[in-house]
Amino acid sequence: MIVLKFGGSSVADAACMRQVAGLVAAALPKAPLVVLSAMGKTTNGLFAAAKAAEAGDLAGAMERQRALMAAHRQTATELFAGAAPETLDVALTDLFGELELLLRGVALLRELSPRSMDAIASLGERLSTRIFAAFVGGAWVDARTVLRTDEVFGEAVPQQAAIRALAAEHMKPLLGAGRAVVTQGYIGATADGLTTTLGRGGSDYSAALFGAALAAEEVQIWTDVEGVLTCDPRIVPEALPIPDLSFAEAAELAAFGAKVLHPATIQPAVEARIPVTVRHTQKPEGRFTTISAEVRSGRPITALASRGPVTVLTVSSTRMLAQSGFLARLFEVFGRRGVSVDLVATAEVSVSLTVEADEPLKALLEDLAAFATVEIHERRAIIAAVGERLKSTPGLGAKLLTALGDINVEMISMGANEINLSLVVKEESTAEALRRLHRVLVGAP
Ligand code: ADP
Ligand code: ASP
Ligand code: MG
Repeated sequence: MIVLKFGGSSVADAACMRQVAGLVAAALPKAPLVVLSAMGKTTNGLFAAAKAAEAGDLAGAMERQRALMAAHRQTATELFAGAAPETLDVALTDLFGELELLLRGVALLRELSPRSMDAIASLGERLSTRIFAAFVGGAWVDARTVLRTDEVFGEAVPQQAAIRALAAEHMKPLLGAGRAVVTQGYIGATADGLTTTLGRGGSDYSAALFGAALAAEEVQIWTDVEGVLTCDPRIVPEALPIPDLSFAEAAELAAFGAKVLHPATIQPAVEARIPVTVRHTQKPEGRFTTISAEVRSGRPITALASRGPVTVLTVSSTRMLAQSGFLARLFEVFGRRGVSVDLVATAEVSVSLTVEADEPLKALLEDLAAFATVEIHERRAIIAAVGERLKSTPGLGAKLLTALGDINVEMISMGANEINLSLVVKEESTAEALRRLHRVLVGAP
């Protein structure tokens, strides 16, 4: 079997869904499992409705609910030329009724827990898959019966052994050459049946999890670009598609902000040795990227990515020189306060670290004040250069810094896996830094 995952822009309206139906039809001999995202910006709409309800603005929430309902009904009407099957009609009515109830509940309590948010967010994928499954005449599977997770609502951790067993029970019997099975990305459920989500952009991750559980031949991620490009095309328009990527390069790029893949996507595929391809839904015959274990790209720098805003903390202690346990003590505080660190660079009497901009730092800073002074620099960004031969290519660091010219680099860190070199710059310099680096390091032969 194979897994085909289509992102939000690939199923944004009736015309897009028709295009996807064509791709699914072509894949029928391979026993496809089709994993869909919510239509277009539906998930954003659901978040906005939930926030309005939380603020007590029930009218605003209901207005968004009606707008989503109109868009979905319109899509169904267009796909079925006005004659949508009654079962689909009933399913849509039920789902929008459920959404209304949830929003009213949130508005009444003026409380939006991550658990309620997940229940609301799940509607996007449940709606898009109902419409699509009806259109292609495929079997519809509720992903929550298979994608078992823990109870960390909003960013649930999948339980792969359980998923394998549940997929064998609920999906495998339906799969076969000549028919499509349709399910949702992004959503799952706890052992108690509570709805969870894998975090924004999580449908890619779902696709890889299902692929690994069902020993797929390939996981295809269909999106709106011709594969993974050498940089985010919205920032560097001349970015080029990369024909092949190693698992390590892809994982690193995703972790450092290449939105085209959810950061966790690669891991289940790596473990199961399943190739992942990234393809353009509107240009199915065009270029695409293959990510596999076999690839040894041999490129010094394959691609660039960026992530921000981040905050840089520079922790200094005059006593550090004498104290052998300084780093242990430092990280103990981060661990205890649950603040996760991305990059670290150490000097003789100070350590610089980056943390996500929205991390609450108050308690951490109070603890650190007991043995060190901390300088805080906000609105910074991490730029990552990723490539298999990065470390063994002489002169790359110099070339990189020269390319940046007058853009100040505040921190440099070479990843321990040797394929990632990260820089920290002011957030407002990110785009220009990427363009300059791309021109010199990636665009050039
Ligand atoms: P989907 O809805 O299909 O999941 P996403 O919007 O999540 O699509 O991801 C695709 C987008 O990722 C592209 O449109 C592009 O703007 C962005 N992107 C960022 N970095 C890269 C990159 N290195 N290669 C390709 N696309 C990238
Ligand atoms: N619909 C979800 C989101 O917008 C998941 C996804 O598209 O991957 O984040
Ligand atoms: Mg995505």
